[in-house]
Amino acid sequence: MVLTDTHTHLYSESFDEDRSEMIQRALAKGIERFFVPAIDSTYTDSMKALKKAFPEQVHLMTGLHPTHVKEDYEEELSHVQEELESGEYIAVGEIGMDLYWDKSFVQQQADAFLRQAAWAKEKDLPIIIHCRDAFDEIFELLEGMPQQEFKGIFHCFTGNETQAQRLIDWGFYLGIGGVVTFKNGKIDQFLSRLPLESIVLETDAPYLAPTPYRGKRNESAYLEEVARKVAAIYRKSLPEVAKVTTANSQQLFGI
Ligand SMILES: [Zn+2]
Repeated sequence: MVLTDTHTHLYSESFDEDRSEMIQRALAKGIERFFVPAIDSTYTDSMKALKKAFPEQVHLMTGLHPTHVKEDYEEELSHVQEELESGEYIAVGEIGMDLYWDKSFVQQQADAFLRQAAWAKEKDLPIIIHCRDAFDEIFELLEGMPQQEFKGIFHCFTGNETQAQRLIDWGFYLGIGGVVTFKNGKIDQFLSRLPLESIVLETDAPYLAPTPYRGKRNESAYLEEVARKVAAIYRKSLPEVAKVTTANSQQLFGI
């Protein structure tokens, strides 16, 4: 059984004390594929070190996270563009809109999203969307884009069934993580009506740990809890869910 964590910040400072052990714990559970989203330029070196240490298992993305779109976002975008030219990246992410923490850079967030999405399109790379308290804004941006067919993941999906269906119609995969295990997470109520072929699994480690680790530091080994919950929702076995969701990630990333 091979599970794929399509969204894990393995380079996070939270893992500085035990990064290798943490990755070994995941590998021991069959979580053997790690797709690693970027946040901003300050992490680029540690991401590359990680790729060097685990060249077969770790795959890197480049991008500017919406909560890190600040006064210096033009410089940050230049960095993303330069990194993209290296050809070392398998996707652009995470990009999007986040109006939960700070609304003062809403215009710049939208601008950064559209420009990075256009670069991804140029290079035929998937985009990984981060959206928090900004469904309407993101949907408006997507509706305004020239193409109406997309390649990417709507990461940490927490919307409703109509929004899920719209995203799937657009060609997106839904990134399902710890929230699906929460009692008040809501998506477990309609997930089984969506095709498993449109779902990928993720932890978003070190954030959003699934039950029974909720509130603690998350790590990729806990993807198993997410996969178990998804298996229960779809009334399938764990290996079957692992097989389909890993195949979905292979289809999207080409790896
Ligand atoms: Zn993330």
